[in-house]
Amino acid sequence: MQATLNSTNFIDLELEHGAHDYHPIPVVLERGEGVYLWDVEGKKYFDFLSAYSAVNQGHCHPRIINALNKQAETLNLTSRAFHNNKLGSYMKYVTNYFNYERLLPSNTGAEAVEAAIKITRKWGYEIKEIPEDKAEIIVCSQNFHGRTSTIISFSSDPVSKTNFGPHSKGFIMIPYNDLDSLEIVLETNPNVAGFLVEPIQGEAGVFTPDNNFIRKAKKLCSEFNVLLVADEIQTGIGRTGSLLAVCGKCSCEGHCEQQKQTFTRPDILILGKAISGGTYPVSAVLCDNNIMDVIKPGQHGSTFGGNPMACSVAMEALEVIRDEKLTQNARRLGELFRSEMHSYIENSYIVSKVRGRGLLNAIVINDSEKSNTAWNICLRLKENGLLAKPTHGNIIRFAPPLVMNESQLIECISIITNTLKSFESQLNST
Ligand SMILES: *Cc1c(COP(=O)(O)O)cnc(C)c1O
Repeated sequence: MQATLNSTNFIDLELEHGAHDYHPIPVVLERGEGVYLWDVEGKKYFDFLSAYSAVNQGHCHPRIINALNKQAETLNLTSRAFHNNKLGSYMKYVTNYFNYERLLPSNTGAEAVEAAIKITRKWGYEIKEIPEDKAEIIVCSQNFHGRTSTIISFSSDPVSKTNFGPHSKGFIMIPYNDLDSLEIVLETNPNVAGFLVEPIQGEAGVFTPDNNFIRKAKKLCSEFNVLLVADEIQTGIGRTGSLLAVCGKCSCEGHCEQQKQTFTRPDILILGKAISGGTYPVSAVLCDNNIMDVIKPGQHGSTFGGNPMACSVAMEALEVIRDEKLTQNARRLGELFRSEMHSYIENSYIVSKVRGRGLLNAIVINDSEKSNTAWNICLRLKENGLLAKPTHGNIIRFAPPLVMNESQLIECISIITNTLKSFESQLNST
């Protein structure tokens, strides 16, 4: 290999030899630490995406890397044909942490969503006694649950769907944050097994529903004997200023009185991304015995799921969330971020909205989805030392690692507002 390649060379290599399945911001990263990333030319950036909220604990967290290294030297993979000495403690630890009875281990988010769909359907047939092959799962428009052929079957995004058919049946779509529609479907269809929902729609552009949406949805689901299946792959693990986004207003990590009142407990909880701090692909489905026990030996599986590396890394990553009080930090800094951004947009042409919870936020650019204003803003943010990416054309998501401190956040807010201001003056002068 050549001694030194520059960013353009690395990008060209991908373009020439890779599938063209992504359109990344043109930056080539080679190192990360905490809230920072460095590109191959040595330029330093604030990371405001955190690998889609996987890197909540910050890049290369020393404790997580230490757990990874120690386990890497000891035992990597046994498959589930045999037991390993990490899986049981991991299952006990995580089920205690999130207050569920059982855990099904897997690797990627989409894989865990697939498993949750299978469990929901099997519960529907065997416990709810839905007639053979008639089970339905309610989903929301604008959802994002991953990229497998079943999951894209119930996407409302034509880009994800077109020419990947024939699509899987058994899904009923309702608008997000629409309890009336949910109730109508539940009332008219006795074959519904579950309602699969994101407590905040991240990929759709950080759509935060009404405060009581999830709580009331859960109540309706219970009334009609339907499982509430919460996809917290992006929103979970401290990101939104509570351990889970379904926890609502409380930022405690345990089970305090306030949490008992506000916590909506999904019947099935899906986790991924930050469960490993982005250090290793780890995902999980959590639920209680009465649901998980529909899965018997041989009915589901994964070669890598529950491997000792995943277990060791994920336990340490969850410990870090607790020990460093990252949930509380996300809540506090999130409030600061939104209040600063709100006061900025009062006099802004270019930003029409700021929304989010904790450190999962977005701004809506005052331009059409087809415009490239948001993309151009992200390119200039990059020039100014901050990495973010548009979602859906005119929305920019801001999700830094939760290890950020207040002075770093203030510096970032000034990079963001100064960058936006440079676009305001441009717009004004044209
Ligand atoms: C990222 C994500 C997924 C898919 O996870 P992968 O690890 O990319 O398969 C599913 N649901 C939500 C809400 C996500 O944000």
